[in-house]
Amino acid sequence: MSQPTTCWFKLPLGAPWTYALFTASQVILEGANRLLPVDGEPAPGLYRLLLGALATLESGTPLGPRPAAMISDSFLLRALAWAGYAPSLTSCAQCDRPGGQPYFAPAAGGAVCKTCRPSGAATLDAVTQAYLLALATGDWAATDTVSESVQRKAGGMIAAYAAWHTEQGLRSLPYLERD
Ligand SMILES: [Zn+2]
Repeated sequence: MSQPTTCWFKLPLGAPWTYALFTASQVILEGANRLLPVDGEPAPGLYRLLLGALATLESGTPLGPRPAAMISDSFLLRALAWAGYAPSLTSCAQCDRPGGQPYFAPAAGGAVCKTCRPSGAATLDAVTQAYLLALATGDWAATDTVSESVQRKAGGMIAAYAAWHTEQGLRSLPYLERD
């Protein structure tokens, strides 16, 4: 697992430190490290996202606790957007056709229409699309009742998308516990 050059994270004292929290924090730290454009140069926007994600892991969202993997998925989407790789979620990434689209393809830039979808594109249903959008915008209220299967499906899409935009993907992602 790649080591961040600087570790800002203090383990919460007294809080139960679970495997899910640990793996999610590793994904967040590795994601931040890999999306830094120039190693060693300040990136205050990314740093704020990183601190926010770690604080949310430790203390929950303003609307209550959420699964650790949901928090790291949200961080990855927002950190990718910060780095200029926001996936298209409200229109076709290729032809700009507005609205939710039925397919998702990392290489194409996110959601794509039937005409633009490359071979191997995953199907994207409206519920998963709305959930991805909620994660990308930090709309925790909209994540409250999302089923585990939708969380898993979206998590797989985010992992594939992050892999496409980071060399070799994130090594910590396969260890992420989705509970
Ligand atoms: Zn299209």
